[in-house]
Amino acid sequence: MNHGELAEKVLLVTGGSRGIGRAIVLEAVGRGGRVAFCCREAGSEAALVQQEAKRIGGEGRVIAVSADVSKEAQVNTLFDSTLTAFGRIDIAINNAAINCDDLLVHLSPEEWDRVIATNLTGSFLIAKRAILEFLDQGDGGRIVSIGSLSQNGATSQASYAASKGGLYGLTRTIAKEYGRVGIYANLLLAGYVETEISSRMPDFAKRFLVDFCPQRRAATASEIAMAALFLASERASFINGETIHATGGLVDIPL
Ligand code: NDP
Repeated sequence: MNHGELAEKVLLVTGGSRGIGRAIVLEAVGRGGRVAFCCREAGSEAALVQQEAKRIGGEGRVIAVSADVSKEAQVNTLFDSTLTAFGRIDIAINNAAINCDDLLVHLSPEEWDRVIATNLTGSFLIAKRAILEFLDQGDGGRIVSIGSLSQNGATSQASYAASKGGLYGLTRTIAKEYGRVGIYANLLLAGYVETEISSRMPDFAKRFLVDFCPQRRAATASEIAMAALFLASERASFINGETIHATGGLVDIPL
């Protein structure tokens, strides 16, 4: 993507304080976008993202909002803050997620609910409000959700896998319901990136993800961010309801 390609676009990115979300925020700012991002408590990590955005020329083009995506009232606050700061919204990126890895029989209903509430219900709440804004604005919009190969099933990831599998149905439904009015939704399956969420995986699992990847390495957060921004851009104007892999050629999790 060219510098300036996202000029005039307003992006809302969930989970932008670190990892892949942070990279999405900074890559978008680098391309001229205006970005609102959230995390549960916009503290020092969020401030560092804003500082970095300023350093690369994005002063006044990034806001950080404390908002838990699993809570509808906080999602509404996130959108209201975005509209107050930037006046509109063009692109919503469902990136925030948590995991709670354990064998299914050890998973409590509360742990299951927490993961589904953040990863799947949060994505629904963001998509719902984004679509309402897009319809109101009348000139379309983009929703990109960050998925995972875990959607196909992964040992010790029942709740995470189910939440990511749910994003497929959500994405396809948005594409079918709103494609005719220029609102497109796509799912980006991210490969293994060394971040906080993946740091909780056992070492042998991390090794498997590299050894079985045809590119024999982890992705950088920026590589995933650039694929997400491609799907959010005008270049992807006839891609809707799709699942795109940025997994270095890995097609399933071997565990
Ligand atoms: P990180 O743990 O590094 O970052 C997660 C981000 O989400 C943080 O900003 C976190 O901030 C935020 N977050 C968590 N819960 C909430 C919530 N309830 N409301 C708002 N924000 C929240 O993870 P990654 O960067 O690795 O993951 C980003 C996305 O990529 C996720 O969807 C993940 O499933 C996906 N992915 C990651 C892979 C990897 O190997 N890293 C592989 C495949 C997919 P805070 O905790 O402060 O709220």
